[in-house]
Amino acid sequence: MIALKSDVEIEKMRQANGIVAEVLQNMREWVVPGVTTAELDEKAEALIRDRGAIPSFKGYPPGSAYPFPGAICASVNEELVHGIPSPRVLKEGDIITVDVGTIFDGYHGDAAVTLPVGEVSQEAEDLMAVTEGALEAGIAAAQAGGHSGDISSSIQTYVEQRGYKVVREYTGHGIGREMHEDPQVPNHGKPGHGVLLRQGMTIALEPMVLISNPRVRVLDDHWTVVSRNGKLTAHFERTIAITEGEADVLSRW
Ligand code: MG
Repeated sequence: MIALKSDVEIEKMRQANGIVAEVLQNMREWVVPGVTTAELDEKAEALIRDRGAIPSFKGYPPGSAYPFPGAICASVNEELVHGIPSPRVLKEGDIITVDVGTIFDGYHGDAAVTLPVGEVSQEAEDLMAVTEGALEAGIAAAQAGGHSGDISSSIQTYVEQRGYKVVREYTGHGIGREMHEDPQVPNHGKPGHGVLLRQGMTIALEPMVLISNPRVRVLDDHWTVVSRNGKLTAHFERTIAITEGEADVLSRW
């Protein structure tokens, strides 16, 4: 079932996502050669808690044998999503995806960016630009009266026309009182398919982009998802609210 949000609920989600955005904005300065992903995680958690929010990824999912240990997902280079913060030291030329989730006043925020560590290769720059462009294309296609497939198709088309691949196993998702709500919004699909988009739907769109081959696997740590071919990957995510006009981007920075 898809939970439509009232204006009051959307404002609460704007606050939760505002805290996410603040963390990601700070990451642009925190991500430098020599820092560890565990240090980034500590800084993020401190800021989230200072704002009166809860880091939603930490301990997720409840009751799991392998609850996620970090406040952020820190995914480096070939790691696509769900990288666990660790003593790993970032080095010049790496790229890192930081994914952040918060709960504020009962509502979730969720967003992610891939950032360069110092100077990076042209290959990395191009990959990041295409992934961020795909997110913008998805947001532009999100409007009441359309379908979730319009978003999926826009993301897929943007990525594949530029010679890249979208992941199949992981998708965007509804979000609100829960981190993951209906509907699922894959990064591939057909216009006019999927669910009807209605005002008050809140969705986290999250293109995950790979080079040459879309196949992924999960490492023995039960979380980290990597490209099978070992090539670089990127992931951008924002939470939006569907309106009759342009989508309302709740995680704005
Ligand atoms: Mg998400």
